[in-house]
Amino acid sequence: MDAKPLHNPDDCTACTICMAHCPVARVTPKFRGPKFTGPAYERFRLLGFGDESSLEYCSNCKNCDISCPSGVPVATFNMLARAEYCKRHPQPFRDWLLGHADLMGRLTEYLPASLVNFSMKNPLSRAIMDLMGIDRRAPLPSFAPLKQRRRLFAHRPAASKQVVFFPGCYIRYYEPQVGFDVIAILEKAGYSVSVPESFRCCGLPLVAGGFATDAVDYARANSMELARWARKGIPVITACPSCALMLQKEYHDLFPEEGLGRYASCVFEACSFILELLDRGELSLPKTSGRYVYHAPCHLRALGRGKTGLDLLGRIPGLEVVDADAGCCGISGSYGFKKGKYTIGMDVGAPLFSALKESQAPVGLSECGTCRIQMRHGSGLPAAHPLSIVRKALRN
Ligand code: SF4
Ligand code: SF4
Repeated sequence: MDAKPLHNPDDCTACTICMAHCPVARVTPKFRGPKFTGPAYERFRLLGFGDESSLEYCSNCKNCDISCPSGVPVATFNMLARAEYCKRHPQPFRDWLLGHADLMGRLTEYLPASLVNFSMKNPLSRAIMDLMGIDRRAPLPSFAPLKQRRRLFAHRPAASKQVVFFPGCYIRYYEPQVGFDVIAILEKAGYSVSVPESFRCCGLPLVAGGFATDAVDYARANSMELARWARKGIPVITACPSCALMLQKEYHDLFPEEGLGRYASCVFEACSFILELLDRGELSLPKTSGRYVYHAPCHLRALGRGKTGLDLLGRIPGLEVVDADAGCCGISGSYGFKKGKYTIGMDVGAPLFSALKESQAPVGLSECGTCRIQMRHGSGLPAAHPLSIVRKALRN
């Protein structure tokens, strides 16, 4: 008897629950929604034909997967179908640029960040990028100074307990300070922290852009590095929920024939790891004060461990943290940067922007770097990683 396939469109019972939870289908009729674009059309795609015109509107936010009572991996169907489509249809250079964020980041290591940021953000460059398909209104992040980026990989003191930090592209190239905050918390709990330079991008931007072959190469390289630490029983921590989702779950779901999911159990999302340290008494958090509004990234919810940053901040006496509880922010990696998608992203994020402003909290919090970009852009509020607040509390 044939083994049951990992992804079976016939698991879909057509209940339409995912349709009610898809943030993109809510704001644009251009997208036919998860049920049709995912399992319904997948049956036709398996027969060698199917309507692919709607695929590009799926943002890979995973709200369909989170809501499906039958466990249908709708977003995985969409991403794999997009990869097949892109093999037959060359992708625009815009999608190549946005998908290869790691390569772009590495290229900027030869130039001062101020020069790179100026050359990317001046009105002429933005007009050219707009012509290439990157919306001139999109809130592109700024590269961090090179010295700061290099310091992430500095050798740190040894200790009896060891962890490895996987920075991911966003922290590595744009917000290394978040990495320093995570490292400081882990060191406070008595861990020595290494940050190997050999880790590549987790591959999610490549998957979302349809560059599955490049994503597999990155996944193989990362898995070799993960294997090195898994064999020694050393946990690998990431503070980016999308990286955690790729390393813990998507390598297996997207590339099952590669066997890359076997190191998933050594990967930990940073807030959930630090919650465990608190439970084991390896760290305690002092009383402090402050008011914040929290947004749970979709990919954090897709990990199935709850709102870990919110739970962690709830363990700090004296903090007041409101859960915005307003769904997807709309950026979905670089989806909201693209022409034709920018307005969709802003419409998706509108309930969150209202909730952030109505909270009257002075700072927004979220574990995801690109969610923070969109929160700042849509609400005007500053935004930080919850672990930056934890570090601040430990300093007081
Ligand atoms: S991944 Fe997000 S945008 Fe794509 S179908 Fe699912 S809910 Fe909709
Ligand atoms: S994919 Fe899941 S939630 Fe969507 S219609 Fe099918 S069974 Fe229902």
